Amino acid sequence: MSNELLDKVKKRRTFAIISHPDAGKTTITEQMLLFGGVIRSAGTVKARKTGHYATSDWMEIEKQRGISVTSSVMQFEYQGKRINILDTPGHEDFSEDTYRTLMAVDSAVMVIDSAKGIEPQTKKLFKVVKQRGIPIFTFMNKLDRDGRPPLDLIAELEDLLGIEGVAMNWPIGSGQTLEGLYDIANNQIEMYHKDGPDRFLALNKEGKLPASEPFSQNPQFQDTLGEIELIKEAGNQFDLAKIVKGDQTPVFFGSALTNFGVETFLKSFVKLAPSPASHEVNDNENLAPDDQDFSGFVFKIQANMNPHHRDRIAFVRIGSGEFKKGLDVTLARTGKPIRLNNATEFMSSERMQVSDAVAGDIVGLYDTGNFQIGDSIYAGKRKIVYPPLPEFTPELFVRVTAKNVMKQKSFHKGMVQLVQEGAIQLYQNYQTDEYILGAVGQLQFEVFKFRMKNEYNSDVEMTNIGHRVARWIDPDQLDPAMANSRNLLVKDRYGQPLFLFENQFAERFFRDKYPDVKLTEKL
Ligand code: GDP
Repeated sequence: MSNELLDKVKKRRTFAIISHPDAGKTTITEQMLLFGGVIRSAGTVKARKTGHYATSDWMEIEKQRGISVTSSVMQFEYQGKRINILDTPGHEDFSEDTYRTLMAVDSAVMVIDSAKGIEPQTKKLFKVVKQRGIPIFTFMNKLDRDGRPPLDLIAELEDLLGIEGVAMNWPIGSGQTLEGLYDIANNQIEMYHKDGPDRFLALNKEGKLPASEPFSQNPQFQDTLGEIELIKEAGNQFDLAKIVKGDQTPVFFGSALTNFGVETFLKSFVKLAPSPASHEVNDNENLAPDDQDFSGFVFKIQANMNPHHRDRIAFVRIGSGEFKKGLDVTLARTGKPIRLNNATEFMSSERMQVSDAVAGDIVGLYDTGNFQIGDSIYAGKRKIVYPPLPEFTPELFVRVTAKNVMKQKSFHKGMVQLVQEGAIQLYQNYQTDEYILGAVGQLQFEVFKFRMKNEYNSDVEMTNIGHRVARWIDPDQLDPAMANSRNLLVKDRYGQPLFLFENQFAERFFRDKYPDVKLTEKL
């Protein structure tokens, strides 16, 4: 039994794609889904993104804004492996959601626009992935356009991100002159202007083409040969141990839009990317993925994905064992037993009932209000608690009330649910209990307002408080008289007191005035 489970776990490849908006994440995801046979024509994901596939009113806001607000899970089989792609919202206002999703993957693919190089959002997301010490694969996209010299792009990885890049293939020409890819890893040429098996030209042992092959005389190819010699001698050497630790990233060039180099990339990725590893639980224990006891953690909660069933789905990353329908688990936070009767697996946009989900997979649990972001669940007697997920201290704040005082009930329901979902942070005035919302980006407030109206039929009024510096204070040191309009005293959803300082100057003023009081950035 154990071996059977281990075999299954070893087939899992669970990853996220990180990139700066417009680098081509959606396009490459779509190509992968095509290879996985999940969609039949290109444009499906794109259509979803632009709203033509607005199957739920949740999508409405994405349509209006043309951004991807939610993360979702796409699953398919490829080359005998079970692939789980965890999508992440591109807009930086939703980076908190993205960061949490990155806690649920075993590797990451970084898509870079080869004309632009490393952009700010990529850099931010990279840092999070790097901290986790998981493998990162790089796809230099848009090779069909004039881009920056490949050597520069690889050097930039090291200079800006501090990660070694190792070339797996190398462009032959670029933009107008793109002829193909010199595939170092597979010792062959992949031709840009050819289709089918014809597009590959085998290289000899020296990595050259026979003189009888006309392409060997191609000037772009000649240039590439020179570059290949250079990188083979002076470039970073492929080192799987470094890749596994996230100290080296295999770099692939290609063009997602023209579906060039994506398949080769996917094949190598599936081979090199790790299957689910052990997880640290209960502070310092190591839990093997093939441990017989099922366990997992909630990294995302999403409400109302389908307007016909006003449901909430808790996304659980399975960390160990196997999920079975009707499984009895314990919710670690409360000790409450829960029977997991209603779960769903994700095959692209279709949601299917779970058949076999093991460590590495994501299951969606229909939630009636049991779960919170970061919750651990486990089967069996041994308590299993996963480390807390990162929480971000909000910087923007608004006061919020229901426009219609008669509709307090739906107002409260919406507030509670959206806060549990992790969409936004909730605070209350320490004395008056008035609601205050905190966010990392302005767009979060707008989405909150839209969803309150749309899903809970509650019009909300928001009064801007603006930028604030949030600092927690030890309740034992708190004297409510310390508060004033420049340092608003509030409590978080756990009842812990904190000050919202008007600016850093106000914080410094406070610290000078009360030198013995300890303020902390995070709870
Ligand atoms: P995302 O924001 O990272 O998901 O980026 P998209 O996949 O939506 O791509 C952004 C834009 O770049 C779209 O107009 C794509 O058609 C275009 N694009 C994506 N990949 C390529 C590529 O390989 N070559 C070219 N020329 N355009 C691309």
